[in-house]
Amino acid sequence: MNLPGDRGYPLRVAVVGAGPSGFYACEALLRSQLEVAVDLYEKLPAPYGLVRYGVAPDHAHLKSVTRVFERIATTPGLRLRGNLNVGRDVMLEELADCYHAVILATGVEYEKQLDIPGEDLPGSHSARSFVAWYNGHPDYRDCVFDLSNETAVIVGQGNVALDVARILAKSADELRNTDISAHALEQLAESRVRDLYIVGRRGPAQAKFTAKELREFGTFSQCAPVVSPEDLVLNEQCAVALSLPANQRAKSIVETLAGFEACSDTSAPRRCHFLFNLQPHAILGKAAVAAIAFQRTRLEGPAFAQRPVATGQIVHLECGLVIRSIGYRRVKLPRLPRASGVDASFSQDGRILEQGRPIPGMYAVGWIKRGAEGTIGTNRGDSVATVAALLEDRAELPTPCHDVNSLLERISARGVRLVDFTDWERIDRAEVARGQPLGKPREKFTTVDEMLQAAAFPQVGATS
Ligand code: NAP
Repeated sequence: MNLPGDRGYPLRVAVVGAGPSGFYACEALLRSQLEVAVDLYEKLPAPYGLVRYGVAPDHAHLKSVTRVFERIATTPGLRLRGNLNVGRDVMLEELADCYHAVILATGVEYEKQLDIPGEDLPGSHSARSFVAWYNGHPDYRDCVFDLSNETAVIVGQGNVALDVARILAKSADELRNTDISAHALEQLAESRVRDLYIVGRRGPAQAKFTAKELREFGTFSQCAPVVSPEDLVLNEQCAVALSLPANQRAKSIVETLAGFEACSDTSAPRRCHFLFNLQPHAILGKAAVAAIAFQRTRLEGPAFAQRPVATGQIVHLECGLVIRSIGYRRVKLPRLPRASGVDASFSQDGRILEQGRPIPGMYAVGWIKRGAEGTIGTNRGDSVATVAALLEDRAELPTPCHDVNSLLERISARGVRLVDFTDWERIDRAEVARGQPLGKPREKFTTVDEMLQAAAFPQVGATS
């Protein structure tokens, strides 16, 4: 019996989501030595997901991974199908009928909530929207952030919080030659923010950011890091945790903060204050954010599992902007093909399960599968593992019962303009050309229409 992937009988796979995990899943399939036909679907005309719309503009080195993705995208056996919103332009069920397997690589859609009063006041924003705004995501380009108050507060101490803080801390001149979107640069250049507070509910030994990212805060032209000595006093359990060689990351963070404390410059034009042991209690204000109240916490529990316990002491910070950077939550999955609608879950190897049993031909990779954690590179091993599970299942995969080309023709006939990789390369070249006179690596198009125009008419958008 011929199995999908055997010579003359290609294994047909749809990967939904052209971010890092989607590309790595495609790479693993293309490297499988089997005959594969992989279609990579993406909602926007532009691929690369979080690399394009999540990675901070001043961390250009992290974006060089797109060269790897370009190589994958141009490997025979893979087609990019951009500007197709699965769930709106085409149903997942329709797509699944055309393939042996579908791999969901759609990431996480929603940020976690603080669940405190005032969270929805104007001036209180998720980090997700701020990041997508400065990165020129079409859905967020019209967001408005009030930067007229001298104080801004970022809640949470992960690497996203540091990304947001850097963008607010740096001068416009330090950002000008990055691929930050023009609308964001313009507003940031007028920013009156002088004091930025990055606030954690636990102590410095529990901060989630990495030391490398933290150390950058000692290098800005106009902004100095500020740390209070009392925040660096660690309890016994934290001291035990820090003494272990396996905890080098936390040790480096505490040492870096101690270095900041030793030369805190409160007279710098901008100041970035790292505050600890403060649990958000309420965001205050009538028509907009005017302050945030925290409960002071103390840590309890064993080393490595220290939890914050409110002490009842309330601390107020007056501010005009609160950015909540407390991580993301997984989306509830859409109704899945070949499933009865009961909540699905994921196995570690990427099979999507219903009531503990794999749904035939349905897999997941990346943040939708394992939650919002890890670096871009973490996705590679994760996608390889999922593809290994898929290949193990080859004999049991459902047989495609419809032709994908006919499906795509019907979708195009409804007016959906599909974007392939050659189209994307035109958009890419036009963005690079727009950036050139400004000394930027690119000036992104921030609407789908602009991207489609550049795909159709290569000269559009290129400033001569
Ligand atoms: P994260 O690393 O999980 O950090 C979330 C932060 O929010 C933690 O400090 C957490 O504190 C805090 N938090 C959660 N719930 C809270 C609540 N109810 N009240 C107050 N604080 C709360 O999330 P992230 O920063 O969004 O990053 C997501 C992933 O992307 C991470 O793996 C990160 O490393 C990665 N990333 C990497 C880079 C890079 O490599 N340069 C850049 C950006 C993002 P607790 O610890 O107390 O829960």
